[in-house]
Amino acid sequence: MKINLKDALASMDYHDLVQFHEDLQKGGHSTRQMVKETILTKEKQMGKFCHVCQSEIDPHSVHNYTILLGPEGLRRKASFCALDCMEYFISTIKKRANELKMKSDKTGDI
Ligand SMILES: [Zn+2]
Repeated sequence: MKINLKDALASMDYHDLVQFHEDLQKGGHSTRQMVKETILTKEKQMGKFCHVCQSEIDPHSVHNYTILLGPEGLRRKASFCALDCMEYFISTIKKRANELKMKSDKTGDI
């Protein structure tokens, strides 16, 4: 289940919410650390399954591939069980980029 920050804050008990507020007033060190750890945990979970075929990835296999996507700050990680899955993923991205380019060429958008 996905919840947004406003819903997460509303579901917190009063004591935790006050502690959260105090941390933010002191520069948010604990909050920043908690967000960083949560991102790392989610990145590890995302690397457990192939982004294309969803098969479980053996972390010790030399046939795994992981790429980083997107601009700094919004970077995402995608892992693949084999080279052909990564090639399929990249070809899909190229196809989408070409379609967007053709669409913008037709409309004259930049
Ligand atoms: Zn795969």
